[in-house]
Parts: sequence; C-alpha cells; structure tokens
Amino acid sequence: MLSIKNLQVRLGEKDILKGLDLEVKPGEVHAIMGPNGAGKSTLGYLLAGREGYEAQDGSVSFEGEDLLALEPEERAAKGVFLAFQYPVEIPGVNNTYFLRAAYNAQRKARGEPELDSMQFLKRVREKLSVLHLKDELLHRAVNEGFSGGEKKRNEIFQLAVLEPKLAILDETDSGLDIDALKAVADGVNALRSPDRAFIVITHYQRLLDYIKPDVVHVLAEGHIVESGGPELALQLEEHGYAWVRDRVAPAD
Ligand code: ADP
Ligand code: MG
Ligand code: MG
Repeated sequence: MLSIKNLQVRLGEKDILKGLDLEVKPGEVHAIMGPNGAGKSTLGYLLAGREGYEAQDGSVSFEGEDLLALEPEERAAKGVFLAFQYPVEIPGVNNTYFLRAAYNAQRKARGEPELDSMQFLKRVREKLSVLHLKDELLHRAVNEGFSGGEKKRNEIFQLAVLEPKLAILDETDSGLDIDALKAVADGVNALRSPDRAFIVITHYQRLLDYIKPDVVHVLAEGHIVESGGPELALQLEEHGYAWVRDRVAPAD
C-alpha cells in the first residue's frame, strides 16, 4: 500500500530524514516511535504534503502511485488521511458542515456523487454510535474551545467519516491525557479493517498499551534504526532511547 524508499528531507540547513525506508501493507498498524526531534512529525507532514516539507531524494508510492507528485487534496481523495490537517480551530464553522464539505470534496475528486445534508447526517450518526461519541460534537464549531481530548475525539470522528485507506496519526509529544489516548486507541481499534492501514506516530509507549501494533519502528538519526513487534515498545519504555542509539552506534 505504502512504500517509502530512501526518503531524505532537509529543513533549513538541517538534514532531518536521511534515507528512511518503510513498507506498510493493508490491514496493518505501524507505530513509529523515536526521541524528541527525531523527525517523526516531519515524516507525517511530508506525507501530508504540508507546505515547506519536500523530499530532497527518495520516493513514496501509495498504491503504486507517486504520492509526492500529488497535491494534498489529491492525496486525501486517494484515501490518505492525516489527522493533523484538521485540529485547527475554525470558529463559527459548524463541525458537521465542515466535515461534509471535506467529505464531498473527496467524493467529487473521485467522480462520486456528493451527499446531501440528510444523507450525510445519517452517515455521521452511524459513525458516532460506532465510536460511542456524543451528538454534541456535531453542533459545535470546528475545534473551537475543544480540550485536547475533545480535539482527539473529533479527529477520530473525522477519520471514521472520511474512511481513509491509510490513516496517519501524529500524537505529538505534548500533554495528551489518558482519556485522550484511550479515545485515539478506541477509535483506531474500532476502525481497523483488512483494507485499512494505520501509521501511529507516538513518543510514548503508553498509547501502545491500548493499540496493539503489528510493527513498531524506531526513528532515530534520520531513519528507521530498528523494527520489531509490540515488545520493542516495551523494551524502549524500559531502557529509553539511548538503548537504541547504543545498539546502532555503540559508544566505546
Ligand atoms: P519529532 O516529531 O520527532 O519530535 P520533528 O519532525 O518535529 O521531530 O522535528 C525534527 C527536527 O526538525 C527538529 O530538530 C526540529 O527542530 C527541526 N525542524 C522542524 N521544523 C523545522 C523547520 N521548519 N526548519 C528547520 N528545522 C525544523
Ligand atoms: Mg517533537
Ligand atoms: Mg512530533
């Protein structure tokens, strides 16, 4: 589904990603962990097509297509979801309205008919019930005054409605409480399916207490230095990232 080869990204004067390889198959959940500043978010932004993030070298193919050649909207229409595209606050814009616009834009780009507000509302209510979310989410303005946890819930809600093939969630490093982590985990677990893949970017192991990833990768020194099963996350928790660094480049 997703094949990243020798990805190199420089920001300003600094080489952030220095030859990153990653293969993700449908149905898989990959966790990407790594020390602060390793370039985890940079990888997410690059895949999203965020302005200012370009590859100096390497390739990213999504279902056989050159992802990096596509505009951010085209990537979304192809089924690539990047959670951090949406946590912006849009005061005065109704959440349901906003989501329908995003959803219909993707359908239109795929040549599918748009849903009217009744059809969309039906769909949205189904998703709310699957995720055990409150109706209230529909009526508020996009992320306005949302707590960190509510933003996360809204992100998962957006994910459920847009039904991407590949969802990339960047948990950032800052202040997600345990409820927010659980909301993310419950959402990911509820939305796992054989034809959908997840890349979950996280600094902390604790999210992986609730999501069981198929593969855990450690991003450090600009590339994936180690990959393994869920036990790798536990080893990291125990020994810290220095442990990986020592294994990659032993201090003598
Ligand atoms: P992580 O998400 O793993 O904590 P980031 O991808 O946010 O790491 O950042 C990786 C590195 O890139 C950091 O050292 C950060 O300071 C640097 N960086 C991020 N954005 C820019 C930018 N626009 N210009 C220059 N350096 C940047
Ligand atoms: Mg960081
Ligand atoms: Mg980050």
